[in-house]
Amino acid sequence: MAADPVDTVLESKSFMIEQEPFYLPQGDEMALFEAAYENKLPVMLVGPTGSGKTRLVEHMAWRLGRTLFTVACHSDLNAGDLTGRYIIQGDQVRWIDGPLLMAVQHGGISYLDEVVEARKDVTVVIHPLTDHRRYMVVEKQGRIHQAPDTFMLVMSYNPNYQSIIKELKPSTRQRFLAITLEWPKPELEAHILHQETGVDHDTAEKLVKAAGKIRNLVHQGLEEGVSTRELVYAATLLQSGVSRRSALSATMVASLTYDQDLKGSILEVLKNYF
Ligand code: ADP
Repeated sequence: MAADPVDTVLESKSFMIEQEPFYLPQGDEMALFEAAYENKLPVMLVGPTGSGKTRLVEHMAWRLGRTLFTVACHSDLNAGDLTGRYIIQGDQVRWIDGPLLMAVQHGGISYLDEVVEARKDVTVVIHPLTDHRRYMVVEKQGRIHQAPDTFMLVMSYNPNYQSIIKELKPSTRQRFLAITLEWPKPELEAHILHQETGVDHDTAEKLVKAAGKIRNLVHQGLEEGVSTRELVYAATLLQSGVSRRSALSATMVASLTYDQDLKGSILEVLKNYF
């Protein structure tokens, strides 16, 4: 079946979150987020992948009662993908709103995940939305859309990933209030694992302790340490009866590195706990 052109254009998902997404705060990030929303300030969530950035936005969208428009940015994503475009359907030309324009029109939260991956022209669209102007220019329509007070722009940024070419420009970075997330403290992370998967406290603690040791291997060349997401996956597999060896290998070894020496070091760490 051919892809729906509307889906193809959007490459995003938007939804009103009905049920409270579980979010365990690491510090004052929820208060900061709420203050930013009330003062119409854009937010940049900084932290490694799998550290809870998306979950925080989902939780806050629910808490603030706003529709969430999420866009997973990638290297081909340009300004037109965010604003919208004309498409030809049969013998008709139709305008399709992009996800950022939708968020502006609905007064929702626009979450641009890994925005640094996107093409440079995206910043031209974003900048006027980040200061007192709070408007969006849609060149193709020849229109300017004023954002209502409830509109909020949030982007995420993982500093560990960025290459020299894909560094976020200071002129863009400085427009956003930065909220930094680290790996949650051990007791919090164990609580998350238990809450998310139902895994027993003892196993949750072991997983978190092992993760702490594996994260230290970053100094020995590991690109990124095991994430909270990977620990949630490990606990999920263990809970569904997958053997320890397979569950841990699939979530905390093979997904972290191809390097045989590093794999060996990770396995050594795991042996101490499991
Ligand atoms: P990111 O957007 O930073 O890549 P996510 O928000 O998708 O990461 O987090 C990955 C997973 O880790 C979530 O689906 C959730 O299960 C868990 N998680 C991480 N941090 C938290 C937290 N503070 N509270 C609840 N769950 C969390």
